[in-house]
Amino acid sequence: MINIVLFGKPGAGKGTQAEFLKQKYNLMHLSTGDIFRFNIKNNTELGQLAKQYMDKGDLVPDAVTIKMLEDIVNKNLNSAGFLFDGFPRTLAQAIELDDFLSNKKWNIAATIALEANDEILINRILERGKTSGRTDDQDEEKIRHRYQEYNEKTAPLIEYYKEQNKFYPINGIGSIAEITERLSNVIDNL
Ligand code: AMP
Repeated sequence: MINIVLFGKPGAGKGTQAEFLKQKYNLMHLSTGDIFRFNIKNNTELGQLAKQYMDKGDLVPDAVTIKMLEDIVNKNLNSAGFLFDGFPRTLAQAIELDDFLSNKKWNIAATIALEANDEILINRILERGKTSGRTDDQDEEKIRHRYQEYNEKTAPLIEYYKEQNKFYPINGIGSIAEITERLSNVIDNL
């Protein structure tokens, strides 16, 4: 069992890299953003609720997000490990995730952060928005609001994981293959 948190600002490439890592290390990829979008597409109650926040670039409330994630983990207890992508995003989520995993005698092995400059990332998201169909990717003001949410609520997790000696920042600029290699180097040396 190995659990990894893939960390980084919106547009840092977490989803792209998760596709490679999940195969290489046989991990179950859990992207809270993808799960919310799946629920929106299927017009579930959870989707309708999450949409109100996501459309504005706000974070979805902790209680809703945590319950959704824990339900999925509980349904996949035989997994060889989880790759958390876009979760945790607040201190409350990180603390709850540690509690939840430790109750199962599991833990987070590493939080690996893909680092890149904000302006590069914002342009990357605007490009992605031209084809992704994601409304939260198409409006620069909303994107900047997502960065504000990141800076206020998510950035404090860097210290949280540093204190646990689990924080591994890597350069998120380069080819997809180069970045996969940097991530693999961290995981292989855990
Ligand atoms: P993402 O696909 O990771 O960029 O997430 C898209 C949107 O989904 C975010 O802007 C939030 O509104 C919501 N979201 C995803 N993950 C979380 C989370 N862990 N906590 C709160 N909101 C989230």
